[in-house]
Amino acid sequence: MAKIILGSAAALTAALAAAAVAGHHLKVSGKWGHAESLASDGGSKLKMLISYVDNLPSGDEKGLFYALDLGGTNFRALRVELGGKEKGVVNVDSEEVSIPPHLMTGSSHDLFDFIATSLAKFVSSEPEEFRPLPGRKRELGFTFSFPVRQTSISSGTLIKWSKGFSIEDVVGEDIVGELTKSLERVGLDMCVTALINDAVGTVAKARFSNKDVIAGVILGTGTNAAYIENVNAIPKWHGLLPKSGEMVINMEWGNFCSSDLPLTEYDRALDEASLNPGEQIFEKIISGMYLGDIVRRVLLKMAEKADFFGDIVPDKLRIPFILRTPDMSAMHHDTSSDLRVVGKKLRDVLEIENTSLKMRKIVVELCDIVSVRGARLAAAGIFGILRKLGRDTVKAGEEQKSVIALDGGLFEHYMKFRTCMENTLKELLGDEAAETIGVEHSNDGSGIGAALLAASQSQYL
Ligand code: ADP
Ligand code: MG
Repeated sequence: MAKIILGSAAALTAALAAAAVAGHHLKVSGKWGHAESLASDGGSKLKMLISYVDNLPSGDEKGLFYALDLGGTNFRALRVELGGKEKGVVNVDSEEVSIPPHLMTGSSHDLFDFIATSLAKFVSSEPEEFRPLPGRKRELGFTFSFPVRQTSISSGTLIKWSKGFSIEDVVGEDIVGELTKSLERVGLDMCVTALINDAVGTVAKARFSNKDVIAGVILGTGTNAAYIENVNAIPKWHGLLPKSGEMVINMEWGNFCSSDLPLTEYDRALDEASLNPGEQIFEKIISGMYLGDIVRRVLLKMAEKADFFGDIVPDKLRIPFILRTPDMSAMHHDTSSDLRVVGKKLRDVLEIENTSLKMRKIVVELCDIVSVRGARLAAAGIFGILRKLGRDTVKAGEEQKSVIALDGGLFEHYMKFRTCMENTLKELLGDEAAETIGVEHSNDGSGIGAALLAASQSQYL
């Protein structure tokens, strides 16, 4: 028993130490490199991409708009009816389709044809009264949540894939061009008027109903953030000065990396085995696609080096991504006195029978360590944005409020993650400044936000 405790303690030490300091290290905004990448592309690990969204929805938008949300393992088609100032979002119909795994690493032609075909099926359920007038096309906002270098509000080239996707033939190509070709192939009369990602969509959706919103953060399969920047602070913007004086910046913060990040041997091994080694390091220690797998990797080491599960190393523990973040979250939230849920998950997912209460407690502690680190780093990222904008302190005589809109399955469902993130943000801000900062869940920014932007960019309004 002593060996088990000692061994597991050693395996946990690195991650534990890391979790304790994560956040504080990154408190200084200079360390993030926001300004460097706003000055020139490649100035820092943050891409700080120009979204071309300089005109957020005003609330006056009216009519029927479509949206397509592609970001993780599913994509969704939405039909959104907007009723202008009085009525806002009147109705939303949507359909979710899971993407067959072989299409995530196949050819772009196949992926986009699959999307266009599913979209066409969805459009065919459109009520008669919403059919476009003769000579008009349906308008679509496309949320494509991968790093894209925009060339206009409705075009942009893919920089690289992330999360589970890897389709080489489309890297460097115009995403809207690819989708449009597929829409034509399936005979769907629709034009893409806005190309955005989920973080930008979250800003748009949240800002539609709350003018204090300054940033949107996604914590889902992956992670990203977008915020509203003053154009004068974007030296690399050479276009016309927008009337609003503002521009939404897509940070692509998932790609952040720094020697200040508390990386462990588990993170390095996960990164090496990933589809995109060396990239999206911040994402790989924070987001839903990876947290469960970090826990699996630590458990495997504990099994191998400390006989944590007895003499045999459970086979299933060697399978990447077998332990998913929702499983981890379920174990972490187990409130039963004998940690029944933990026992059941270990048995059902990993085929580990007869665990002791002591073992189950250590598993919960591990889930805590891994999620606390991710949550504290996410809070540090938000704090970095606030500091960049000078909103991390209270200025005498000013009553400025700043709201951060959050979305994504991890934020929505992993309560301990969410609470820890919100508490860390307060801790980093201090009591007085924390009073001026709000965090709100902005549901479905990636879907409705795209429809809103399609509307505000409409050629018919
Ligand atoms: P996407 O990021 O792919 O657009 P979502 O925002 O719905 O999709 O996020 C899905 C991700 O959220 C999943 O990959 C999973 O990691 C995480 N997630 C979903 N449910 C839970 C849960 N109950 N606990 C923890 N994480 C969850
Ligand atoms: Mg999403």
